[in-house]
Amino acid sequence: MIIKKISSSVNHGLLALILVLTLPALATALASDDECKRISDKLASVTLEECLLSQLEQASAYSSVGSPILFKDYTPVEGRLPLGRVLLIGGIHGDEYSSVSIVFKWMNTLNEHHSGLFHWRILPLLNPDGLLAEKSQRMNSNNVDLNRNFPMQDWQNATRDYWENITKRNPRRFPGNYAVSESETQYLVDEIQRFQPDVIVAVHAPHGIVDYDGPKNGPYKLGRLYLNLLGTYPGSLGNYAGVQLEIPVVTIELPYAGIMPKPSEVAHIWRDLVGWLRKNIGANQETDPS
Ligand SMILES: [Zn+2]
Repeated sequence: MIIKKISSSVNHGLLALILVLTLPALATALASDDECKRISDKLASVTLEECLLSQLEQASAYSSVGSPILFKDYTPVEGRLPLGRVLLIGGIHGDEYSSVSIVFKWMNTLNEHHSGLFHWRILPLLNPDGLLAEKSQRMNSNNVDLNRNFPMQDWQNATRDYWENITKRNPRRFPGNYAVSESETQYLVDEIQRFQPDVIVAVHAPHGIVDYDGPKNGPYKLGRLYLNLLGTYPGSLGNYAGVQLEIPVVTIELPYAGIMPKPSEVAHIWRDLVGWLRKNIGANQETDPS
């Protein structure tokens, strides 16, 4: 759903309605200090103070071994209709540290400068078990690659065929025993249904590119990362949300899983992303010439 600009006389009522409809289900508790300690102990680029200041909340869902899924909502501000809703996700793969750390840096930016331009819902680490395990791993604690576990038509055959014949049964690409078998994947499927994002941004590493699935065109360039369409994998988020649901999915592939881009590049990617969203999402969307 795209939020269109409407006259100011009905702004407030609609804004209240949007807030009620898009609130995360049963999400009330702030993340415990212990959750932030676990995250900052694991990620050299995220301090305990930074994590605590981000005031993450616990969703009503848990990882396979019971870690809370954490999120942060930057809601519409009074008197301004956001151009649209953006769902930003880091850490779908638990060993891609930079994909989590950079989301914390962008939350720092929003903490200072959130203007209500967009309604952001941010999940900095969708796969806490993979990240926070003693030895971090791509998969969740059931050894499932979450980014192959999203639903699609003929999921069983498509993912199994890809896993067995293309990846040669690579355990790092195991799609699970059935679609949406994992609590983390189920949570994201539900969250997309609840939040109705106009765009999804997923952060990964280490391919050093921008990938895109969905209608129209993706961003040609974000910071030093250029658009390079990798194609969609069976069971991936890009396939599920971008191809099937036709929600634009921007995948940011950072150059290194274990090394953060420089602060200037972190800021540059963010500026370019927001610039692209301004042009392409919601009432003011234009056709991106790229
Ligand atoms: Zn990844």
